[in-house]
Amino acid sequence: MLQPTAIDGLAFARTAGVLKGRLDLESLPRLAQSGCSGAVLDFVLTGDINERGKPELRLAVDGSVRLECQRCLGNVDLPLRLEARLELVSGEAEILAADDDDIERVVAGRDMSVAVLVEDEVILALPMVPKHEQCRAAAGAEGGAEPSAFQALAALKKTKFQ
Ligand SMILES: [Zn+2]
Repeated sequence: MLQPTAIDGLAFARTAGVLKGRLDLESLPRLAQSGCSGAVLDFVLTGDINERGKPELRLAVDGSVRLECQRCLGNVDLPLRLEARLELVSGEAEILAADDDDIERVVAGRDMSVAVLVEDEVILALPMVPKHEQCRAAAGAEGGAEPSAFQALAALKKTKFQ
């Protein structure tokens, strides 16, 4: 399936464009750099004019990302679902001038990369400390004292009899 990888932001918003697709880690280099080793993300990008009369992009992402568990350093697959609204503005100055509200803004372009839009939102949504909900490292730490003391004793005996 051939998919457009970039949109003309203002035209997309004004014509109520709809774009659906799926991205994996190959299209998300910054996510790969941030310790993510796998991702399958379905997205729906729609354009509209919001209640303030401004063009905006709405983005919904649904999928999962594979991160490194900070307890056991194993892989942990985390479900990821987010929705974002991005008001389109003409330049950075407009973003700086309006930083006192909680509306997310992005500079409109004629060639806006869809993968970059998705990646920006996904990075914001990633957990600071990814970990398994039920991590085997946590269970191991509680029951781990006995075997290691036993091993230390065994090692001690070994040296004595040598
Ligand atoms: Zn873990």
